[in-house]
Amino acid sequence: MKRYIVAASLLFACSSAFAADKVCKLEIAGTDQMQFDKKELVVAPDCTSVELTLKHTGKLPAQAMGHNWVLTKTPDVAAVASDGLSAGLPKDYLKAGDTRVIAHTKVIGGGQTTSITFPTSKLTKGGAYTYFCSFPGHSTIMKGVLKF
Ligand code: ZN
Repeated sequence: MKRYIVAASLLFACSSAFAADKVCKLEIAGTDQMQFDKKELVVAPDCTSVELTLKHTGKLPAQAMGHNWVLTKTPDVAAVASDGLSAGLPKDYLKAGDTRVIAHTKVIGGGQTTSITFPTSKLTKGGAYTYFCSFPGHSTIMKGVLKF
């Protein structure tokens, strides 16, 4: 019992001494019809990090209808998607070490879920960001805007 009280007061001390970390959770789903269920995701200005969960609500395997969630600056989308084509499924259809990629999940198939967390320090307030699926042929349809 005593241990709980100490832990609780430590937590309180930390949160009052420093600006509180705020993890903001976002969710998006991909379907067998090659669609994301959201065209826009909004990150509130006070979020210090984002936990993004991607759900594949379809039934098709990753080899046939794989989806990932890749975040880049809007002008980088076409080039990042194009450079990722030859990387293949094991590399999540992204060029190794592509510094234009701000954050990305792995490619998943029907029934699977995956999450990533990234700091909002990687984003500039008011910047133009687009998320998309880098599976070959998907990025022109499966994309949306991320606002911060
Ligand atoms: Zn996809």
